[in-house]
Amino acid sequence: MRVIDPVPLRSDVLAAFFDLIGPDRAAEVRAAAARIVERLDGGTLWHVNSTARGGGVAEMLHLLVPLYRALGVSCRWAVVDGDDRFFDVTKKLGNSAYGSTDPGDRLDAGAVDGYLAHLDDEAGWFAELLGANDVLLPHDHQTAGLVPPLAAKVSAVHWRCHVGVDASTEGSEAAWAVMAPLLDDADGVVFSVAHHVPAELADHHFAVIPPVIWPYAPKNRPLADDAVRDLLDRCGLGPGPVPPYVVADGPRDPGVPLVAQVSRWDRLKDMHGVLMGIAGSASDAHLALVGPDPAAIPDDVDQARWFATCLEARRALPAPVRRRISLVCLPMDDLDDNAHLVNAVQRTADVVVQKSLAEGFGLTVTEAMWKARPVVGSAVGGISAQIDHGRNGLLLSDPHDLAGFADLVTGLTGDAVDGVALGTRAHEDVRRRYLPDGDVLAIAGLLAEEDR
Ligand code: UDP
Repeated sequence: MRVIDPVPLRSDVLAAFFDLIGPDRAAEVRAAAARIVERLDGGTLWHVNSTARGGGVAEMLHLLVPLYRALGVSCRWAVVDGDDRFFDVTKKLGNSAYGSTDPGDRLDAGAVDGYLAHLDDEAGWFAELLGANDVLLPHDHQTAGLVPPLAAKVSAVHWRCHVGVDASTEGSEAAWAVMAPLLDDADGVVFSVAHHVPAELADHHFAVIPPVIWPYAPKNRPLADDAVRDLLDRCGLGPGPVPPYVVADGPRDPGVPLVAQVSRWDRLKDMHGVLMGIAGSASDAHLALVGPDPAAIPDDVDQARWFATCLEARRALPAPVRRRISLVCLPMDDLDDNAHLVNAVQRTADVVVQKSLAEGFGLTVTEAMWKARPVVGSAVGGISAQIDHGRNGLLLSDPHDLAGFADLVTGLTGDAVDGVALGTRAHEDVRRRYLPDGDVLAIAGLLAEEDR
């Protein structure tokens, strides 16, 4: 394991955030932070996850740890290290927790023993840093095995889970059969949406705390018009020449609406379904499927496979349809640069879609809503918690329904539905519900409940 030291939050950025949420809410946040400090009584709030960079949890911790520190809370962040075997097990555990019944995701007892032995080793090193008043917030399946060896060393453990399924499957039951017993000593479990708490954890104290986004992060901060133009060119979505990491038949026609999905190339994100849905519709919109460059993540062969599926499907389309579909593989060498590219696509798209087949929370939806975009999302996981159909976005009730999906999108691109009104309400909903003030209040509440 190692300790991560994220960049501190600048005081002017904290002041801007307090302006954004208003003085009353800012006072509540400060009071909540003071209650956390009091509860910790000299101890530290520790977040633990399995990566310092890449992925929603890491992104959130780069924000939350500095924010809590700026509010006077002793807050630290450690990551578990692992070799390929460890991450192979955690990948299967995660896929299963998302409901996968793929035989390739099945875990044998030997693999689980290896995972537990590895985390036991990691916990040995970490325990040296912990004090009796500390509170541990381990995130996701990669850290569940830390709870048994560490629970007695600290004053409380709240395990935070960002994955889940709407209806349990054989796969998710197998994942919880591994994880639930590890959580027996946890004081509580935290989920992003209430209906993801599995039956196996029904006896645990649970809280619902959604992930949050940061308006000042490279992914969400306002961008000047000329910066957006430059970034769009670099995504092959402007008038300039198409870069080599973009698959497109020339520059995008600026006269037609832009529809975009930004996701990992993953089965559950269903980029292929988005492509087929839009390609089979009467829409004249340009579709951009935007994800990380699979070549930059060689340890995730699944992404290369799903990208290849989209490439193949696009190639098979008639030329006029193919011309209005771009596959954008964003460079990954500089993550701030990557985030700026995502930002530009999300804020330019006339419609942002997230046609996931399953979803933990769906930060891409939150990010697009913050940018006041009308979003069409599948009614799965955290997307159904974020989108209130017809008020702040549109929900696709059956994520496999390609024609229904295309209808929702064309309703927006064809102006039959008022996308501006949806986007305006979406922005305001994110401001109220998915910015980090909510996290501070929720954690203070969680720690206060323990004392009852
Ligand atoms: N993302 C990114 N670059 C990409 C594709 C995705 O930065 O090329 C980001 C996206 O903006 C979001 C996160 O990755 O912040 C994905 O989070 P989400 O909850 O939507 O899905 P997950 O990938 O965690 O299942």
